[in-house]
Amino acid sequence: MSALYDQLKPHLDKTYALNVALTMLSFDNSTAAPKEAIEYTSKAIGLLSGEHYNALINEEVKHLLEQLSTEQEQALLSLEEKAIVKNLNKEYKLMAAIPPEEFQAYQILLAKAYPIWEAAKNNNDYDSFSPTLEEIISYSKKFAAYNQKEGQKLYDVPLNDFEEGFNVEILDEFFSKLRTALTPLVHKVNEKSEAIQTDFLHQDYNIDIQRSFCRFLAEYIGFDFNRGVIAESEHPFTTNLHNHDVRITNHFQKNRPDFAIFSVIHEGGHALYEQGVDDAITMTPIGQGTSMGMHESQSRFYENNLGRSLSFWTPIYSRLQEAFPSQLKAVSLKQFYQAVNHAHSSLIRTEADELTYPFHVMIRYEIEKMIFEGTITAAELPAVWNQKYQEYLGVCPSTDTEGILQDMHWAVGSFGYFPSYALGSAIAAQIFHHLKTVMPLERYLEEGNLKPIQTYLNQHIHRFGKAKNTQELLQDMTKEPFNPDYYISYLTDKYTALYHL
Ligand SMILES: [Zn+2]
Repeated sequence: MSALYDQLKPHLDKTYALNVALTMLSFDNSTAAPKEAIEYTSKAIGLLSGEHYNALINEEVKHLLEQLSTEQEQALLSLEEKAIVKNLNKEYKLMAAIPPEEFQAYQILLAKAYPIWEAAKNNNDYDSFSPTLEEIISYSKKFAAYNQKEGQKLYDVPLNDFEEGFNVEILDEFFSKLRTALTPLVHKVNEKSEAIQTDFLHQDYNIDIQRSFCRFLAEYIGFDFNRGVIAESEHPFTTNLHNHDVRITNHFQKNRPDFAIFSVIHEGGHALYEQGVDDAITMTPIGQGTSMGMHESQSRFYENNLGRSLSFWTPIYSRLQEAFPSQLKAVSLKQFYQAVNHAHSSLIRTEADELTYPFHVMIRYEIEKMIFEGTITAAELPAVWNQKYQEYLGVCPSTDTEGILQDMHWAVGSFGYFPSYALGSAIAAQIFHHLKTVMPLERYLEEGNLKPIQTYLNQHIHRFGKAKNTQELLQDMTKEPFNPDYYISYLTDKYTALYHL
């Protein structure tokens, strides 16, 4: 027992309480709040965010953390408490390195930037956003420089923030392997894209029936409705107050039932992670998924590795056919499986298939790298963007709306975030491979028995929250560090068979 830790506890509790309030407000803004609410509610959010910042970043907490980091005090802490202090120290150093007045000015800039980006996207007018983006870039680079360690590249700083232990060197190797192995595959698949029939997915699918089928799917993969809810929003997402309140959203379109089906499995994968965090650490700084990459691995594992496999649908496809008899009665399980895996190059990342998806991420990674190396200005971005789409995917956006302006990430200052999406898929493939060596995975899927899969992931990943990072989780579970080769062979095998290449 540490008396000093007891003094830290009220600070953590207050921070967490404010965090719960902010999460609720943000969830409400995306789901239930009326359109005009945001302008007014955001004033309250701004004030609470300030309180949230001050609850953790202050002299008292700083002093306590310093004392708790000594060898003598560390000996008195439990494993969880040690992990919490370590995590706080890291966050603290990141935040404290930025002068408060610069941080505040940056927050004001970001608040203005979002609507500017939104208008630019709607009007296909990149020039109206470019100067704001240049300012965001300049702040992001400045903040990264404050936290840059010796031997680190500037872009390593945001990369490491999102995924501890990852850097330009690892990601360069990862993307170069992808580029070499998958570019020819993408080209071959594009040539044979017509071979798979998808028209039955574009008919009218009643939204109420979609909604109840998606609810069934969430339950089927293990989502606990006593500790979670499903709401609706423009873009599906997952958020959580703690491990007993995990919220996912979905979005329904009449002529794209596959969007809602795979969204609920994807967000469900995120939710299983958060619902699976151990009770002992929930509502603490380590009581959430360890990183973006690991989180995306869980959602993509369920969405793609399981959800887009033939065995996953074997026990439940007839149920989908019964829900939509006029659309699917004449469509076989195999035809359905092929259609939901249909691949071809396209312009929009969020609508991309499993095979071409990592190329969208690679393009953003290469551009962010140039931004942090200072070899490109905001004004030059659209041309480089278009040229890379042409080169890797063989398609070129005719407007910036479908090009450089499509994602909000840079408008909210998120640099270093995109690679997590591709890392997530690669980690998922590594886990998928591993699971097949420790359990009869295919058979479980064919029997509709998904519980052992969830239990295994819970034991080896979910319950730890942030107490272990991605590399540690992978090493302890699969006995090797991150290895992108599994991802490359997974995609190669799957698409070679699917398109008879
Ligand atoms: Zn996700």
